[in-house]
Amino acid sequence: MGNDAHEKLADWLATTFRGLPSIKKPEFMDLLRFLYTPEEARLAIRMGPEGGKLDELVAKTGITREELKPLIQSMEKKGTMYTEPESKDPVYRPLGLEVPGLAETSTWGDVSTPFRQELMGLWDKFRPVYVNEAISELGQHNRAWCIVSVLPPDAKPDENLYEQLRQTTDYGAVAGCPCRLIERHGDPGEACGCPIDCCMCFGEMARWAVEQGHSRHVTVDEAIEILDACAEAGQVHTGLPGVLLCNCCKHACVNLYAMKIGKMHTYSKNHFFARADSETCTSCGTCAEACPVGAVQIEKTALVDTDKCIGCGVCAAGCEEKSIRMVRRSEEEIAQLDAEFMEVFGKVISKTKPDPLVMKMLGG
Ligand code: SF4
Ligand code: SF4
Repeated sequence: MGNDAHEKLADWLATTFRGLPSIKKPEFMDLLRFLYTPEEARLAIRMGPEGGKLDELVAKTGITREELKPLIQSMEKKGTMYTEPESKDPVYRPLGLEVPGLAETSTWGDVSTPFRQELMGLWDKFRPVYVNEAISELGQHNRAWCIVSVLPPDAKPDENLYEQLRQTTDYGAVAGCPCRLIERHGDPGEACGCPIDCCMCFGEMARWAVEQGHSRHVTVDEAIEILDACAEAGQVHTGLPGVLLCNCCKHACVNLYAMKIGKMHTYSKNHFFARADSETCTSCGTCAEACPVGAVQIEKTALVDTDKCIGCGVCAAGCEEKSIRMVRRSEEEIAQLDAEFMEVFGKVISKTKPDPLVMKMLGG
């Protein structure tokens, strides 16, 4: 009976926002069984992605208020149940896999607890399956933001991450990067030294994460300070301002990790590319080492493959000689890249039942 509930949960998760395919590999099922009791799995499915207020859930699920409350509280603690923040009669929604979901919310919080330690061990085993069976299938559905300090003068306001962040939100929350925490848990000796506290969400989701003790509140100015520090550490900004922002590194990020095991990376090119100045470049190799997608070769000087370059600006920010500048692609190329990106993103959305919370945060 328990197994049946988790199998059905795996199918249900495949219908949530990001449209991850139903993965019934043992590593995934172990993760589900650890995160959800059979009763919680059944509750999530019966609630549906839209969830409801307590009275509505009683009617919808046939479970009494008295039985529902401890189930909901247990799921909130684990990060598998969202509760509308600051509401006396909140809407409850089960969280699907990714944005918001298992990878982020369930690993947020105090990572020293036995619960999160065991969870990270299970995630570490699941990560190659996740990359091979799930995110690679989605294709190039991510985009990097160019590091603000190296944006070219002709960049537009909607290409400036900090301007977009200031315009879209006034409340943020930060927690540990799940990818890096999982990597450190799996192999502490080999793990990278990149900053950990840099996984950010904003608005309603942030208020929930702070209320539940999963994250720490940050103002928009503090969020920008964190982004600055991440840029200095060579991390790639990605995500949606006002919703969720990641600072990915090539060592631990599941999306960039896909490249390590020979999968096509999941990043689409943004509106910029890097260009090195052969007059001032000293061929030190720092940029080639830093580039998360292997777009730089050092021959006599640094050479950037503009076909591979995702426009993150990590190389330009790290070049001590200031020999790399970011260049805006032609309007024609930008239009084509945007159309291709939206096609992939649209496919991901259209094959799923969009998560109502995420759609609300996206303004839908
Ligand atoms: S980091 Fe700068 S100086 Fe060093 S190889 Fe790259 S472009 Fe040249
Ligand atoms: S060359 Fe690499 S590091 Fe530089 S902007 Fe392009 S993708 Fe980013």
